[in-house]
Amino acid sequence: MRPEDLVRPEILALKAYPVPSSHGMVKLDAMENPYALPEAVRDEIANSVARAEFNRYPDATASRLKARIREAAGVPRDAEIVLGNGSDEIIQMLALAVARPGAVVMGVEPSFVMFRMISVFCGLKFVGVPLTASFALDIDAFLGAMRVHKPALVFLAFPNNPTGNLFDEQALARVLEEAPGIVVIDEAYHAFARRTWMDRLARHPNLLVMRTLSKTGLAGLRIGFVAGSSDWLTHVEKVRLPYNVGVLTQLVAEQVMQHESLLGDQATAITAERARLFDALNGLDGVTAFPSEANFILLRTPAAERVHAGLKSRGVLIKNLHGAHPSLEDCLRVTVGTPQENERFLDALEASL
Ligand SMILES: *Cc1c(COP(=O)(O)O)cnc(C)c1O
Repeated sequence: MRPEDLVRPEILALKAYPVPSSHGMVKLDAMENPYALPEAVRDEIANSVARAEFNRYPDATASRLKARIREAAGVPRDAEIVLGNGSDEIIQMLALAVARPGAVVMGVEPSFVMFRMISVFCGLKFVGVPLTASFALDIDAFLGAMRVHKPALVFLAFPNNPTGNLFDEQALARVLEEAPGIVVIDEAYHAFARRTWMDRLARHPNLLVMRTLSKTGLAGLRIGFVAGSSDWLTHVEKVRLPYNVGVLTQLVAEQVMQHESLLGDQATAITAERARLFDALNGLDGVTAFPSEANFILLRTPAAERVHAGLKSRGVLIKNLHGAHPSLEDCLRVTVGTPQENERFLDALEASL
C-alpha cells in the first residue's frame, strides 16, 4: 500500500509550512519580539517553575491564566474565552467545529496563510477574495462572494499579515452584519495597532475576537485565545483537547503577564522603530515600503528574490513573499527588530540592492 492511496488528495497537494534555519543570523522573518525579559523577571519565573507540579496534568480550565488574560485584554464580562496552543490552534478548533461536508471558510488574499491551510486540513473549502491594489478590503467583492459561498466562518486579520494595514472599520461592520456565520477578527498585532473589536462583541453576536501572545514576546510559549459569545464558544470548547495548554505555559504566561507595563514599553519601542525603519526604507532608491500598523513592514524592491538571497548571504533573514500571491510580486517582509538589528538589516539591504 502506498501513502498516495491513503492520504487525502488535498493533503498530498500541500507543502509543509517552511521554517528556514536561522542559526547565527539576524532573525527578522517571523514577527518575534526582539527584546528578552529582564533578569529579575527571569529569576521569578525560574523560581515558580522549580515548584511546578510536572507530575500532574495541567489545570484543564486554566482558570488563573484566563482571569489574567480577561483583565489584560479587556474581555467583556459576559463574553467567554477559549485558550489555544497559539492562535493557530484556535483557528483549527473553530474550523473543526464547523467542518460539515461542503462547508466554506472565507478570507482575503494575501493574508495569513494558516487560514487557508488549516481550513484544508479540516476538510473545508477556503475562498480567498483578493484585496484591492492598495491592499484594502474590496467590500463589494467580499459581500458578493459571501452571498455565493455562504461561509460558516470568515477570518480577517486586523491589521492584516503580510500587508500590515488595518481594514476599514465600516467595511468590517458590513461583513459582520451580512455574514451568514461567524466572523473572526484576528488581532495578532493588537499591541502595535492599538485598535480593537473587543468592546464591540456585544453589538455583533456573530463576532469572535482572536489574539495571541506570540508577537509581544511569548512566541516560544504558544498561547492564544479567542473571545466571544458563549453560544458559539461552548461548542468550540468541546473540540479543544483537554490539556492543550501545558503546566509550564500556564505558569509562565501568567507570570509574564503580571509585567504588563514591561511588554507595553517593548511594544512602544518597536512601534517607534517601525516609523524610523519605514522612513529609512522609503529613502532607498527603488524601494517602496508600505505603511504598517503591525511589528513588520512589507516592502517592494527590484528583483526581490536576488535581494532576499543577498540579505541571507550577509546574515540577515527576512521573509520572501515573491511568488506567494500575484499582488506580492517582488515583495519582502521584514520584522521590526532592535535598533541595532534594523541597522544591520538596512546596511545589508543597501549592499544587496
Ligand atoms: C502570527 C500570526 C498568528 C499566529 O499566532 P500564534 O499564536 O503564534 O499561532 C495568527 N494570526 C496572524 C494574522 C498572525 O500573523
